[in-house]
Amino acid sequence: MASYKAPLRDLRFVYYELFDAEATWAELPGYEDATQDLVLAVVEELGKICGEVLEPLNSVGDEEGCQLRDGAVTTPTGFIEAYRLLQEGGWTGLVGRPEYGGQGLPPTVGAMATEMLCATNLAFAMYLGLTEGASHALDLHASEEIKQKLIPKLIDGTWAGTMCLTEPQCGTDLGLVRTLAVPSGDDTFSVNGSKIFISAGDHDLTENIVHLVLARLPEAPPGIKGISLLAIPKLREVDGELVPNGVGCSSIEHKMGIKGSSTCVINFDDSIGWLVGEPHKGMRAMFTFMNSARLHVGVQGLALAEAASQKAVAFARERLQGRSLTGVKYPQLEADPILVHPDVRKMLLTMRAFTEGARALTAWASLAIDVHDRHPDPAKCSEADDLASLLTPVVKAFQTDLGFDATNLALQVCGGYGYTREYGVEQLVRDARITQIYEGTNGIQALDLVGRKLPAHMGRYLRRFFHPVQQFLEAEAEVPEMQEFVGPAAKAFERLQRATAWIAQEGMKNPDQAGAAATDYLHLFGYTAFAYLWARMAKISLAKREGSDKDFYDAKLATARFFMQRLLPKSGALFAIIMAGSDAVMAFPDDAF
Ligand SMILES: Cc1cc2nc3c(=O)[nH]c(=O)nc-3n(C[C@H](O)[C@H](O)[C@H](O)COP(=O)(O)OP(=O)(O)OC[C@H]3O[C@@H](n4cnc5c(N)ncnc54)[C@H](O)[C@@H]3O)c2cc1C
Repeated sequence: MASYKAPLRDLRFVYYELFDAEATWAELPGYEDATQDLVLAVVEELGKICGEVLEPLNSVGDEEGCQLRDGAVTTPTGFIEAYRLLQEGGWTGLVGRPEYGGQGLPPTVGAMATEMLCATNLAFAMYLGLTEGASHALDLHASEEIKQKLIPKLIDGTWAGTMCLTEPQCGTDLGLVRTLAVPSGDDTFSVNGSKIFISAGDHDLTENIVHLVLARLPEAPPGIKGISLLAIPKLREVDGELVPNGVGCSSIEHKMGIKGSSTCVINFDDSIGWLVGEPHKGMRAMFTFMNSARLHVGVQGLALAEAASQKAVAFARERLQGRSLTGVKYPQLEADPILVHPDVRKMLLTMRAFTEGARALTAWASLAIDVHDRHPDPAKCSEADDLASLLTPVVKAFQTDLGFDATNLALQVCGGYGYTREYGVEQLVRDARITQIYEGTNGIQALDLVGRKLPAHMGRYLRRFFHPVQQFLEAEAEVPEMQEFVGPAAKAFERLQRATAWIAQEGMKNPDQAGAAATDYLHLFGYTAFAYLWARMAKISLAKREGSDKDFYDAKLATARFFMQRLLPKSGALFAIIMAGSDAVMAFPDDAF
């Protein structure tokens, strides 16, 4: 099968034509030098490495998986060499702060990199992503001393990081955490407990691993308000030597996908760690970096959809079956390529409309996170934070739901060959499935959107989305060539507004109404956000469809049309489902299940 091609043209369109990333970064101290030329050169270079080095290892990781022997995890053949290559090339520090040895590029460049890394090898990308996440959390919350001790090693890739939240009795409900951290009398804590499902919990890519662990201090308040965050190295430094720190891996999971990523049970036995942030404020510390962590999982959905879409298109061009319904299209061939069949085209266009829409939504949310992190004007900062907070659950859940659907569609396009291992599409389906579960299940993202983000500050977050959408739709309402885009988008937007008002009103009276509507509402939100972005992309394409890039803009317009006519009508069904209320869901007796 054709190998991965980094979507460089579309990245340029989204980040520099739809949004103006360079102008955004020019206002953010420290990011002024992130010019378009520099960023696109970086992205192109990484895209090559992803296609040439990581993609060939994707099936190796899937076939071999990780192994646990004598308490130590080994990664699949080739992972160590690929890791060294990325480490030596400075890729582990792409978005790390220069004062800790990083390259200081904006996190949004990290999101572009994440897309290519995950599209070619999600399991491998997990090791890098977790380390970056741990480094970011330490940067936001740790004391200067701990930052100096840990972050440079994470950035230069000598050490790796993890996030240890889950325990056997608690996944979604982290208030049930039992791991205990007892003060040792100096500035350290002695930690005991067991964490499960820890991605990259143990491996052979780095000399050490820093675990960021949710634990409870003695006499902590019960529930979520009594959780603290600790940094616990697998090996701790004593007199310049790295010595064991009571951190052990007792088993690894045998799972459906991302088999090259180790998923470990990690035990802490009198392990020495440092508190990160204030006592009992661990969840707050976690939440502040969750926007970027969840966005990264949303990018995984986009990435796998892109990879699947590329494979499906290549297959559909080559596979000859039957003839076009309207007459032979390729008479020189024994049969027409399946690309001519309406059902196959529909699947390919669905993947395309989703992938390009998701790339645009990712860019919008990610740039808002950059602005929130760095803008000198507090008002702009807060405005961007509102938007990022609102869009984050949508990016995470909508993009991973549709990402999974896209991989599944790609498998369907490839027929029986898709179901075999040879083509790599069935692996993408299996790999994609976890993205809907970890980093907060998609059901929980929907509850976050409906229960926290909609009512926040009397609807202030929501206004950051509604205002630009409304303004754009009004401004384009009378433009004749925009009617085919603005009309359907306005209809979806109206449904979203009505559903929002209904949930606000009915959810107050009966929270089950909001709970039963949540996932459908999140999808309605996602479709509306895509409609707005597709309408904007269509406007740009209408204005630019000349010259050497004409084909690119024509394809954009055709995809925008497909989205408006063939996908967006789902907003009508979602609206009807939401308005049906929770009765049929809640009336069913528990014992009858
Ligand atoms: C491969 C893999 C890698 C992982 N990596 C990590 C990692 O690196 N670090 C880490 O800490 N964890 C990790 N996890 C754990 C993951 O984050 C959890 O599995 C996830 O948060 C869900 O928790 P759970 O499995 O306990 O499901 P549960 O919380 O038991 O949920 C089961 C179902 O009930 C629903 N549900 C639960 N509570 C509610 C509620 N209040 N309202 C509505 N619905 C609800 C959920 O949406 C879900 O559908 C990983 C898991 C896997 C499988």
